[in-house]
Amino acid sequence: MVAPKTTELAPSGPKNVSLQRLGRWLLAFAFCGISGLAGLHAAGAAEPADNLVKNPGFGQDSAKPGTPANYVLTGDVEYRYLGDPNREIAPWGVALRSGPGVGSSAIRQGSIAQTVSGLDAKPGRWFRFSFRGLPQTLFAVDGDRLVMQVDFFADGGRTSFDSKAKPLYHLVQQDRKDLSVNGDGRTGGAAVWRTYALEFMLPSPLVDQVRLKVAFDHGNTAMSAQSEFFVSDFSLVRIAGPLPAEAGNPRPADARPANLLPLGGRWFYQAGAGETAAPKVFDHTNADRLIYHDDKWSAPFAGSMSAWLRAGDIGLDGRVAPKDQFVADNVTVSFDATSLIIHTKSLPNHPTGRFPELGGGNPNYIEEQLATYYIPLNPVENPRHVATATDNSNRALPMGPIGIAANGVVFFNPFDAGSEDASNLMDYCCGHPNQDGLYHYHKYPICIYSPWADEGTGHSPLLGWAFDGFPIYGPYVKAGILAKDATGADGLNDFNIHFDAERGWHYQVTPGKFPYIIGGYWGTEDPRNSPGGRGGRRGPPPGRGPPPGRGFGPPPPGPF
Ligand SMILES: [Zn+2]
Repeated sequence: MVAPKTTELAPSGPKNVSLQRLGRWLLAFAFCGISGLAGLHAAGAAEPADNLVKNPGFGQDSAKPGTPANYVLTGDVEYRYLGDPNREIAPWGVALRSGPGVGSSAIRQGSIAQTVSGLDAKPGRWFRFSFRGLPQTLFAVDGDRLVMQVDFFADGGRTSFDSKAKPLYHLVQQDRKDLSVNGDGRTGGAAVWRTYALEFMLPSPLVDQVRLKVAFDHGNTAMSAQSEFFVSDFSLVRIAGPLPAEAGNPRPADARPANLLPLGGRWFYQAGAGETAAPKVFDHTNADRLIYHDDKWSAPFAGSMSAWLRAGDIGLDGRVAPKDQFVADNVTVSFDATSLIIHTKSLPNHPTGRFPELGGGNPNYIEEQLATYYIPLNPVENPRHVATATDNSNRALPMGPIGIAANGVVFFNPFDAGSEDASNLMDYCCGHPNQDGLYHYHKYPICIYSPWADEGTGHSPLLGWAFDGFPIYGPYVKAGILAKDATGADGLNDFNIHFDAERGWHYQVTPGKFPYIIGGYWGTEDPRNSPGGRGGRRGPPPGRGPPPGRGFGPPPPGPF
């Protein structure tokens, strides 16, 4: 682990924060949690309006207090706020409990399920069931008996068809093995908030109802302590099927969509019938048609353009938000001849820490703010590029934003300052706000949505772009192999970049290994992104006081 040496200062310098305090919370390395929701958002996915699940945020049933509306709970499960309300912005959901001394059953088992009725197979029979899960450190089952499952029914539930189940516990174990080094602070140990997903085809056109379930069994043997697996954010969305649709075929992710209009670089617009031009602006309503080509044809922004301004965050009006507000257009994008232009309000779209932190931690708020970043469409290697020295003595990368994820949250370089333990200074998603209220990542943020769930079964999906235009991918270079451990052509150089035929030059994140995200610009940064060159970013409102009426009890159940 490289000791951070350099103070992270925005061009405008710290505001309302002593340097000593700044140094303390800026130390970011050792313990940032590896939570996340590596997401699954291919074309057609997952803006809230597309979700066929009722009450995806696990709001409480007003008729049956203490239970989530529209769900059925069985066994050793508990409905509650899934985090420490003093320290985390977490969702409501259900905890599956393993370990001794829970309930009356000799064998720990339980489930959370929702039945979705009225499905119409005519527009297509392919769907994706996904949810967010977070295993606590000691959660364990025998075998692979943590599963997500879909049960099929016809005739309004009177006729039962087959089921399709996907074991998940081996993925939990893989994350613990590969990603704990990314950081394991907070109360969750090596816990990982991430998205688990199952794609399936209705087994018959007669099927009009599915039961979506997360279940576990044999959760207690050999366990010395109780532990939990958190479940929230159920989602069921239609996805494109294989062409030609054929039962049992895996959906080919590399199938080129029809009617593509080139936008520059690796980008295309998937035109509808009769359309001859691309929209000028892409937002949450058409992000599923904004296609990126690498080894797949994906829609990296689909499902990632909306976010929540959380109660306690600061909105564009400079005030502390009294309650959660949905921000549909957190990210929009457009193109000019040379650049992908990303407009972002800079709000994270995933669970975060609660900022400002209690007890002398990070004193800053997460602030909604307007920023525009330019990503070169046709990046080329800069022959004079310089890799970042491990002590940052050469200042190869600027402080402040150096790239941006597809959810509109920026990446910073590896360097922070300070000498005190920083275990509670970054949140579960490896992010925190700086003195300008700008939430940002210093290392692999598993939380961000990406087009496919990263199960380590092949090259990781796209996460975002560095300001030189080269894309940034997740940690795996091939099945079971982390890029940071790879050698030969698969290995990364000091910039954390390498080349392959499908992706060209691309960075890959290196959990637990310097420089974590990128180690310098391999290409040339668009100067409009450099400190002082960014248009439209607003600073924090001057002289704001403590937030009025901000409580630290659990927030009310609601969509997350
Ligand atoms: Zn790679």
